[in-house]
Amino acid sequence: MKIFKTVTEMQAWSSSEKRENRDIAFVPTMGALHEGHLELLRRGKEAADRLVLSLFVNPTQFGPREDLDSYPRTLKNDLQKAEAAGVDAVFLPSSEEMYPRGFQTFIQLENLPNHLCGIKRPGHFRGVTTVVLKLFMAVNPDVALFGKKDYQQFRVIQQMTADLRLPIRILPVDIVREKDGLAMSSRNLNLSPEEREATPRIFQSLVATQRWIDEGERKPGHLESRLIRTLTLDPKITVDYVAICDPQTLEPLKKLKPESLLAIACFVGQTRLIDNVLLKC
Ligand code: AMP
Repeated sequence: MKIFKTVTEMQAWSSSEKRENRDIAFVPTMGALHEGHLELLRRGKEAADRLVLSLFVNPTQFGPREDLDSYPRTLKNDLQKAEAAGVDAVFLPSSEEMYPRGFQTFIQLENLPNHLCGIKRPGHFRGVTTVVLKLFMAVNPDVALFGKKDYQQFRVIQQMTADLRLPIRILPVDIVREKDGLAMSSRNLNLSPEEREATPRIFQSLVATQRWIDEGERKPGHLESRLIRTLTLDPKITVDYVAICDPQTLEPLKKLKPESLLAIACFVGQTRLIDNVLLKC
């Protein structure tokens, strides 16, 4: 498994693979790899001749009061997992490599970031789109895989790729969950045992919302407040937002659509967790 720390080295390897007519699948991550990431890698392995993983905790997508410093970093472990998953090349740039002194070029979408996490984390998606475009230019992939756990991120990247006519296929991957339903996330490592015990309630309340719809409740507002009440029965959980929205535009819905996205963000202690389901209405 190759490890590249500079954009130039990464680009040179990709070019030589392309010259040999091999196509490239790419899985961008911030490391602390878990089964969710490994599922993306498995799907990437099937999708192309070569598989590239990036490990980069991107500072520009964290707000000033967010968890950049406490974000879990497990590099040695990650490289072992990557090797076992059949990764051909790891792109492991430093912050200085991605954002050299004087850096001033950012990419920003007009509408999709104005909903859900974008409201709660101003500037987050500007950081995400900027880093993903830069990673795409370093890796030059034919296909890139994104988890639906970060559904808004997937839509933002899909939109950016279409808007810029990037010749990259964006492949969404279903959410991988723990046995008790908690969506896998690197941030789960920061939960105390008591906090971890509270977390199954998050997915359970999403499943319950589908049940309330099946039982006849049709008003998004009613569903959202009932969901918030259910979640906050546990005092360890505070809701950041709950929203029922259009899965394409992410605009809030006043009336349910046949497929509506239910997205949620909450804090369990200091740890912010997100989850979502596609409601069948
Ligand atoms: P991160 O390292 O958290 O930035 O995530 C890297 C990629 O893995 C993103 O495309 C995420 O959506 C995806 N991912 C993270 N957790 C999961 C999960 N539980 N199931 C599926 N994909 C995931």
